[in-house]
Amino acid sequence: MLKAFKYRIAPTPDQAELLNKHCGAVRFVYNLALETKTFAYSTKQVNVSRMELSAQLTDLKKECEWLKEVNSQSLQSALLNLDIAYSNFFKGTADFPTFKKKNRKQSFQCPQNVVVDFTKGTIDLPKFKEPIKAVFHRTFTGSVRTVTISRTPTGKYFASVLVDTAAVIPTKAPVERSTSVGVDLGIKTFAVLSDGTEYANPKHLNQSIDRLKVLQRRASKKKKGSNNRKKANRKVAVLHEKIANQRKDFLHKASDAITKRYDTVVLEDLAVANMVKNPGRSGVPGEPHKLARSISDAGWGMFRQFVEYKSEWRGKNVLTIGRFEPSSKLHNTCGYINKDLLSSDREWICPNCNELVSRDLNASINILNFGLLKHSGRQSSGEPVESPTLVGTLKQEKLKRASAPAYRPDL
Ligand SMILES: [Zn+2]
Repeated sequence: MLKAFKYRIAPTPDQAELLNKHCGAVRFVYNLALETKTFAYSTKQVNVSRMELSAQLTDLKKECEWLKEVNSQSLQSALLNLDIAYSNFFKGTADFPTFKKKNRKQSFQCPQNVVVDFTKGTIDLPKFKEPIKAVFHRTFTGSVRTVTISRTPTGKYFASVLVDTAAVIPTKAPVERSTSVGVDLGIKTFAVLSDGTEYANPKHLNQSIDRLKVLQRRASKKKKGSNNRKKANRKVAVLHEKIANQRKDFLHKASDAITKRYDTVVLEDLAVANMVKNPGRSGVPGEPHKLARSISDAGWGMFRQFVEYKSEWRGKNVLTIGRFEPSSKLHNTCGYINKDLLSSDREWICPNCNELVSRDLNASINILNFGLLKHSGRQSSGEPVESPTLVGTLKQEKLKRASAPAYRPDL
């Protein structure tokens, strides 16, 4: 089983310089390859493959001597990542790849020849004369696959080590209603489960977001290129990082609790959840809720990733439901569809059965029901299930009536 372990590393100034060179070179190659591919496609309608680009790296190094200081496998990995980004775009699971920017989080990969030494407390990377000091808060056993080095905008360095732990992947638990849960993700409340449990967004997270808005405004008022602007931007970056960590911590706790308690988790298709719940997403710039929204967007994606890999470790199932299920509008007990439901309605009275319906709880129960229904349909047989039609039902009814014993009033 593959597992990732992330450690803080403490490079010397020389090592930091070489790490930065790696980040810069990888960014340069990635961006150049993206430009080449886009240009080739838009002007000549040809696809430049990774193999071709990879073969061209040798020529590029003759032009740019400084690339030789960098581990060439890291450059190859950049091309591989671009390939993955392209195929995700064509699969429809991601936006078109964009250029990597210098002021964002930087990273590069070492696919081979990394030595992690717990006794010495170091990580040794190809092209580095001395191993880099690392803080190992936990150890692992198994073989190292790839190592990704990253640098945050505030200048911290991390190594994320992907390890093949040789542990056997547990067999999946059966999908049963009694051990399944539906999860409705939202903006106000982070998640509502079909058992009624609510995961509120942590309060300190909201406070930090408010503070972030203030700092961003302040930074934008400082003169461009000035030292004060730089200082203000650094404050923004530090707080950004703090928020990201707080959010991650919260998402880990929530995904841990859910995947431990339940054997099957049903989630909504995220692209759709975004569209439905964030109608003004691409709307007016500077819109007050935009920041909170973009942060909740990112949170949902990360939550799903966490739930997916933790389920993998624990032998649990993840089911997803798609876009055509009316999860909020359908009353889960009586089947009434409330077409007039507004996105601001937190509760509504069902006109059909007079029950008070709590929006998020109702949605999470529907998510659970749809997920299980879809799953049972997939499982029942390899044959596509014929869905009932009006004419079919009519014929069935006639058959039933014909075969039923005649009505005998005397009995
Ligand atoms: Zn009802």
